[in-house]
Amino acid sequence: MTRTALLRAPRKFELVERDKPRPGPGEAVVRTVATAVCHTDLSIYTGAHPGVRYPVVMGHESTGIVDSLGEGASALEPGAHVIVNPIIACRQCDPCRRGDTHLCRDAGLFGREVDGSLSPYIKLPAHYLHRLPAGMPLEQATLIETLATVRHAQRRVAQTSGESVVVLGQGTGGLLHTRLAVLAGANPVIAVSRTRWKLEMAERMGAHHVVAASVEDAVGEVRRLTRGAGADVVIDAAGGPKAFKAAIGMLRPGGRFCAYSISHEPVEGFSTFPLYFGEISLVGSRALAEEDMAPSIELVASGKVDVSGFISARYPLRDAAAAFEEYERNPSRILRIVIGSPS
Ligand SMILES: [Zn+2]
Ligand SMILES: [Zn+2]
Repeated sequence: MTRTALLRAPRKFELVERDKPRPGPGEAVVRTVATAVCHTDLSIYTGAHPGVRYPVVMGHESTGIVDSLGEGASALEPGAHVIVNPIIACRQCDPCRRGDTHLCRDAGLFGREVDGSLSPYIKLPAHYLHRLPAGMPLEQATLIETLATVRHAQRRVAQTSGESVVVLGQGTGGLLHTRLAVLAGANPVIAVSRTRWKLEMAERMGAHHVVAASVEDAVGEVRRLTRGAGADVVIDAAGGPKAFKAAIGMLRPGGRFCAYSISHEPVEGFSTFPLYFGEISLVGSRALAEEDMAPSIELVASGKVDVSGFISARYPLRDAAAAFEEYERNPSRILRIVIGSPS
């Protein structure tokens, strides 16, 4: 018997038996193969994520194999390998009608508002599934969801070839930002992190320069590397007030700041004057849009983005609790933990 890893309350997992779901019209049932867990899951696990209702079945970076399909779900067939687009949207509100389903006024996340993939089977409308090439390893393919959020942010900040791009923080999102900036022709791409092994990975992603420093201490080095001009674009994949202030200090007049990292911390003592004086653009980027999925799958399938080095540890589904204990102990030493099923 395979079981679902239900999070009853913060830090309280329970393995529960659930009947295998059956697909309704337009729905698919997918046998879960791999789920990567990220900082969003960690904050749900610890109780730090605002507005979460427990119990919850986490898991939104999810790949698997189509098991069965309901009436009308004809774009896929049983046996197809798929990844989930976890952004649940109503498809009726004004942002949805504009095509911005990720900004849905009633948006949810699969694995937070809706039961996610820390379960042997998932059921969801088939339009949330994207086909993966049959030969792509399903564990590694879980990274495509994060890659899609990164691609979305880089589209938002609209960097062009030859621009200088700084990426603050070289966790999973930061490293993928470094890679996509390089692929977009940005030059130089400057990766900032205090962690040596992450900078080594950033070099493998093609970063032209790596800066081993805190975000504050990196400001002078970015100025030097851009010959005093400042960067065209700074992408914050570190988060928090220090990164924001440092980013503003790194930008050239007319530069763009992209808030990729999720932070709830207020930026104290910051006036809008630098935005006025430097005509700085602040660009928000939330989650991913549906159209980011297919190109992100292609980036991995073509080998342009190598995600093979991003999985720090693997656990079977029955050991989900141990996986999260390890993640909470070492959040900065882990890129992605993958939880596999069946256990
Ligand atoms: Zn995530
Ligand atoms: Zn909507």
